[in-house]
Amino acid sequence: MKIPLIDLKSQHESIEKEIKEAIHLVIKGGKFILGENVKNLEKEIAEFTNTKYGIGVANGTDALQLTLEAYGIGKGDEVITTPFTFFATAEAISQVGGTPVFVDIDKDTYNIDVNKVEEKITGKTKAIIPVHLFGQPADMDKIIDIGNKHNLIIIEDACQAIGAIYKGRKIGSIGHAGCFSFFPTKNLGCMGDGGMVVTNDEIIAKSLRMLRFHGQKVKYFNEMLGYNSRLDEIQGAILRVKLKYLLQWNEKRRKIACRYNRLLENIPVKIPVEIDHIYSVYHLYVVQLDKRDNLRSYLKGKGIDTGIYYPLPLHLQRAYKELNYEKGDFPVAEHVSKKTLALPIYPEMTEGMQGYIVENIREFYSSR
Ligand SMILES: *Cc1c(COP(=O)(O)O)cnc(C)c1O
Repeated sequence: MKIPLIDLKSQHESIEKEIKEAIHLVIKGGKFILGENVKNLEKEIAEFTNTKYGIGVANGTDALQLTLEAYGIGKGDEVITTPFTFFATAEAISQVGGTPVFVDIDKDTYNIDVNKVEEKITGKTKAIIPVHLFGQPADMDKIIDIGNKHNLIIIEDACQAIGAIYKGRKIGSIGHAGCFSFFPTKNLGCMGDGGMVVTNDEIIAKSLRMLRFHGQKVKYFNEMLGYNSRLDEIQGAILRVKLKYLLQWNEKRRKIACRYNRLLENIPVKIPVEIDHIYSVYHLYVVQLDKRDNLRSYLKGKGIDTGIYYPLPLHLQRAYKELNYEKGDFPVAEHVSKKTLALPIYPEMTEGMQGYIVENIREFYSSR
């Protein structure tokens, strides 16, 4: 049996006709930049996340960067975030001229440790970017409290968590703004790059619309310097088709995660911990275990792909050498980066595949 980490082909086969029709209509219409599809998708995603405004941008990284810029965050400003995330979270902070300030993570959820945030706040701190890692919401109540107390902007990096719910509230709607990525492998992925910001703040929504389009409000009249960072119309059309399936796909991911949890009982593997009152959308199913790298090659030999998210925390990346962090600064993130393994998860996965994966994990540990 061959089992990939994620299987986009089988997902797209199930909706191929609809996608082709949607693309065909864009081609026939002849409007490829900021047409009806992007406009409607912005409305649909805003509605889906219970927010007022959606602003389509070129990718999730730009969603973060343009949002920081829209809030006036830049040179000399500090932004608190997690070192255990995709590089883009911190990169966006640096690209606007700010400094990422890292805080260690919680050992069970892998999200930012909210009890360690306040000690990192200085006179220069302007914002916090919590990341809802692997599809599980960060502890937003505490983050919002801290934000209110210190007058900080909260930008949710929701790139891995579209559809997740925290205490009845949709992820992306809890902070001042929420950022999504439509990278192909995300829970809602397009067929190229794409991203979106959602917010209830009308002024920020307007700034974002200008920033993504060379700072212009009216064609050829530029109010400020901006970027070329638009979500393109064909991707918008594809995403509108796929959005209709998102709820059922996320529900399937949860079922698969639940089944993994059950099957992995009695195997020396730490399964994902869900905090109370949340609906996690399992962008990835990540376990913690010993002899990770050996298990990984063992599974590879059995035709099973796995992934490591993330092998090196951001404070130890060469790109951040000048921030002067050291090994040992964030022990939880460093420990976890050596122990976590992502098992295959995608809505089209069968029970048989899951059984095969877990049997091979069991065999690996019983023979050692
Ligand atoms: C994917 C991702 C991003 C960046 O999104 P792109 O669309 O690839 O630019 C940012 N943050 C996190 C946590 C992500 O998973």
